[in-house]
Amino acid sequence: MKHDRSRTLYDRALSVMPGGVNSAVRAAIEPYPFFVRKGDGGHVIDADDNRYVDWVMGLGPLLLGHDMPEQVRAAIQRKASEGPMYGAPTEVEVDLAEFVTRHVPSVEKIRFVNSGTEATVSAVRLARGHTGRNKIVVMQGGYHGAQESTLVEGDAENPQPSSAGVPQSFAEHTLPVPFNDGEAMEAVFAEHGDDIAAVLTEPILGNYGIVHPQEGYHEFLREITREHGSLLIFDEVITGFRVGGLGCAQGRFDITPDLTTFGKVVGGGFPVGAVGGRAEIMEDLTPAGDVFQAGTFSGHPVTMAAGLETLRYAAEHDVYDHVDRLGEQLRGGLSDIVADQAPEYTVAGTGSMFKVIFTRDGAEPTCAADVKRAETDRWRRIFWEAMLEEKVFLSQNQFECQFVSAAHTEDDVERTLEAYKEAL
Ligand SMILES: *Cc1c(COP(=O)(O)O)cnc(C)c1O
Repeated sequence: MKHDRSRTLYDRALSVMPGGVNSAVRAAIEPYPFFVRKGDGGHVIDADDNRYVDWVMGLGPLLLGHDMPEQVRAAIQRKASEGPMYGAPTEVEVDLAEFVTRHVPSVEKIRFVNSGTEATVSAVRLARGHTGRNKIVVMQGGYHGAQESTLVEGDAENPQPSSAGVPQSFAEHTLPVPFNDGEAMEAVFAEHGDDIAAVLTEPILGNYGIVHPQEGYHEFLREITREHGSLLIFDEVITGFRVGGLGCAQGRFDITPDLTTFGKVVGGGFPVGAVGGRAEIMEDLTPAGDVFQAGTFSGHPVTMAAGLETLRYAAEHDVYDHVDRLGEQLRGGLSDIVADQAPEYTVAGTGSMFKVIFTRDGAEPTCAADVKRAETDRWRRIFWEAMLEEKVFLSQNQFECQFVSAAHTEDDVERTLEAYKEAL
């Protein structure tokens, strides 16, 4: 397979962009990433005209794949041609807010922003402002974007910045605990209960896994936060409008968080984030309340139109049935292959999310530390490359999950299973 043009582009990029990319994970591929020329249904075509089955799907946003249905394309083009944005409110923001509040019962009011990171920044500030408390409990290996309050590792006794540039004194307000560990959570609340503004968690760890909640874990989180007057924040930036259909993962698990962050799918492939929740809490955001929040591009008309028409299309067609069915076929086929060829590995996922984790450790992973023990170098340096040779594009490291879109077909699934058989 030729990659001459990608190689030349990466050479140019290295001169003008740190690491040659605009988001770190894209450079995980060695010796250099392929550059995409365009998408086509469930496939991408690179700068050298190689075509791959694409299970990355923009790392989550592309529920419908690369070909926008006519109603989505038309709405985007209309908005773009009317002038991109105004610094004044527009009807389409209200339409999308109404759509989300109608389908996600915990969300009575919503504020749109421009990325998942901005959504979690706003949610954390809102939780602190609302409760008058400082500390945030997060899950080890959870991901909430590139922001100061969550780029923290270690444990609740000894939280440390996970990135240069984050002061230790900031990290002290963030308490990481292992996912699915009720005792660790109880200990943190026993020690810091009066100063915990919120527990912030992905309902399913999608950036370090996939790791699923054990039976009763979310109910336990709901209970312990309520008991201590802390908020429960579900970060549904990945799972929102993907797992559990239009009701999101919280609908699937039947849990009512106080606040929810959204991103990815809700913008239909354009830059987006949102924080939503109980009206009484949301009203603390400026200008209704005194927790400052603002954004030049927030509620961008093109993004709002893309998100609204994508979700309307999903509501009116069998999108979720289709992606969940293909997801199940993939996981089923992968389970057979893994049992046969690599019984020490694990197939994880639900709905349209899937991943093969290169470890088993006796059972399915229950926390990020289990996934961390996986053969991450083999995954990235040997396996990923072998899959690319088979013309299948998987997420760039062991940790990020992969996504089925409405544009994928049973043929894509079969080709992909054949490729895994070759590469594993
Ligand atoms: C992707 C992601 C984010 C960050 O969103 P960006 O749009 O990349 O800033 C936050 N939380 C979760 C769970 C995510 O998957």
